[in-house]
Amino acid sequence: MSRQPLTLLKSHFGYDRFRPLQEEIIAHVLLRKDTLVLMPTGGGKSLCYQLPALVFDGLTLVVSPLIALMKDQVDALNANGIAAEFINSTLSASDVARVQREAKSGRIKILYVAPERLAISGFRAFLATLSVSLIAVDEAHCISEWGHEFRPDYRNLKLLRHDFPEVPVIALTATATEKVRQDIIAELDLKQGQTFLASFNRPNLTYRVFPKRRAFSQLCGLLQHHKKESVIIYCFSRKKTEELVQDLSAEGFMALAYHAGLDHTVRKEAQEKFIHDETPIIVATIAFGMGIDKPDVRLVVHYDLPKSLEGYYQETGRAGRDDLPSECVLFYSYGDKAKQDYFIQQMENEAERKNAEEKLARMIAFCDLQTCRRQFLLAYFGEAAIEEYCRGCDICLSTKEEFDATEIAQKILSAVIRTGERFGMGHVIAVLRGQKNKRILELGHDQLSVYGIVNNFDDQELRTIFGLLLSKGLLVKQGDEYPTLAVTPMGRTFIKQRETLFLVRPKREVASVPAREKGLVDYDPGLFEHLRLLRKELADKRGVPPFVIFGDATLQQMAAVFPRSLEELSCIFGVGRAKLQQFGEPFLGVICDYMREHPHLTRQTPLPEGRRSRTTLRQGSTFDETRMLLLQKQSLQEIALRRGVKEERIIYHMERLVEAGEKLDIAYLMPLPARVNQIIAAFEKCGGTLLAPVMTLLGDGFSYEELRLVRLYLRQKER
Ligand code: ADP
Ligand code: ZN
Repeated sequence: MSRQPLTLLKSHFGYDRFRPLQEEIIAHVLLRKDTLVLMPTGGGKSLCYQLPALVFDGLTLVVSPLIALMKDQVDALNANGIAAEFINSTLSASDVARVQREAKSGRIKILYVAPERLAISGFRAFLATLSVSLIAVDEAHCISEWGHEFRPDYRNLKLLRHDFPEVPVIALTATATEKVRQDIIAELDLKQGQTFLASFNRPNLTYRVFPKRRAFSQLCGLLQHHKKESVIIYCFSRKKTEELVQDLSAEGFMALAYHAGLDHTVRKEAQEKFIHDETPIIVATIAFGMGIDKPDVRLVVHYDLPKSLEGYYQETGRAGRDDLPSECVLFYSYGDKAKQDYFIQQMENEAERKNAEEKLARMIAFCDLQTCRRQFLLAYFGEAAIEEYCRGCDICLSTKEEFDATEIAQKILSAVIRTGERFGMGHVIAVLRGQKNKRILELGHDQLSVYGIVNNFDDQELRTIFGLLLSKGLLVKQGDEYPTLAVTPMGRTFIKQRETLFLVRPKREVASVPAREKGLVDYDPGLFEHLRLLRKELADKRGVPPFVIFGDATLQQMAAVFPRSLEELSCIFGVGRAKLQQFGEPFLGVICDYMREHPHLTRQTPLPEGRRSRTTLRQGSTFDETRMLLLQKQSLQEIALRRGVKEERIIYHMERLVEAGEKLDIAYLMPLPARVNQIIAAFEKCGGTLLAPVMTLLGDGFSYEELRLVRLYLRQKER
């Protein structure tokens, strides 16, 4: 068996390509060097040790704190035909003994263990009897006291390192500041190792911020777009999650609540139902997520304002781990900010309070942005800019319009100056709009000349314009805690010289989600649904989550290319050898039935090139499409029209297919029998297969296309 990484990737995981950095990391691990991997959630970290585990002779030991995830990971590996087991507190003593026996016998390639085991000397003595070739430390940030998820048990890893001084270590994490990174390297004593830092950009995620107005009906609209798909909705409080679940249920959405106040079994059940595709929607506090590895979450909603961008990034990161397009939507209101402020003010420790204030200020800045949200997010995490328009946030996606902002800008800047440049946006807006709140009256701001001079913009629109003036450099924010606005020298010049000012703003439109892209391929939704049902059935039979059988991307590709044989099926993304054997037949069955019921279906997308596809058909795509249309007995004219090429080109496809050993049924395309006989006779007379002499012999009244068809017919008959 080949031990080439790329070959193993297809045969065991069913994938054709590595994700960014995976290949480099794996090559490094295979040199038996220590490695530190920093990759965002969904980046594909697991593969970085799972694939080397297949190459190495002995066993790969994986230390992970997420006990709840171990079973899923092991199930997924087993489904791919890889011998894996786990040992943690959920196993009975006899099961532990069985796994230990199997590990000793050398049958197991990948063994997951919980870190607390490593403190038990008996367990370490057992490990010492194994031939360990690689140690992987998942969620490696847990080793650092600086991290937010410090696990004292992780200090036991030092012992492991001591027991296996020669064995390379690969440490992996999605969250690591420089400090945490240093800690990991020091604590694990990563020698002459290398750090691989992947981009934290998640191109398949779309980020949107909606003003929190009629939020519930907007939410229902969103959920309508994501019917039957997995959705996580984050709320600020436990109470709110339960209320929202009730409201959603009343609207006919199946949803469950999840928060730390619920009974353990209730919580576990909610999580299981979510993972097993029984309840599509989870409404949760941020307590939900750590133990969730569901790859096909299509929408993450923040119904309330998150406390920090770190949290926001981590929570939105749970969307679309499988790389398919997924959405992140945040509902933002000023009231939410005030609520958070209130909680922050209750904090006793001053340093903590300051920290929380700063974090919240960045979060608010993100919400108020008039420029690309992805840029801002990545810059926050210290990553260099990507292209100017990311095509994946509401700002970049919105249609823009230019408008003459001279007058409104004059009014805003004057109001900032008149109020003494000591107030935040909210207050200045209230003054401009002529509101009668207590503060305004107390300060006497209702007496100012700028009081109530704006009536053609609402609060949200004014916020947008403030944002534009900030990014133009006419206004500036001062102070982090309660930022106040001031007019810059440039702003003052603008007021004095009364220049005209054009600004670009998002077009006024109802906050709605544009039609979601259907995925990477244009697939048949009906067939996709059938395939999902089969997946669920097979998963239930085995007691594993559906995504362990096949991911959405795999089913979508099946529903686009309609594979008709095991060989064709093996070319599909995510179909490795083991899964082909276990699940190939039932999935082909469903596809065949569906095709029979829908005879007009044609392949929307070319069959992907499998690793073993016959070389003569390497351009398979276009040839295959022609073949499919021929199978449906379409006329040459129809096929040519449909493919947008000349009929000759279609005949050329047929010739190539036949050359490659395909058998085509072309009898229905033949000219009338009398003509066919004439042509055959002419070919015989001329000898050989050249067309020109035959044409000359037959004279006018025959076409080259006819001749070629007959030649094809003869060629097939010869075989
Ligand atoms: P992480 O641990 O970094 O969050 P995972 O290892 O769980 O990410 O991988 C996320 C998803 O991506 C999984 O469903 C995994 O099967 C898939 N995946 C990993 N590598 C590849 C690849 N090279 N091609 C396609 N899918 C991949
Ligand atoms: Zn953008």
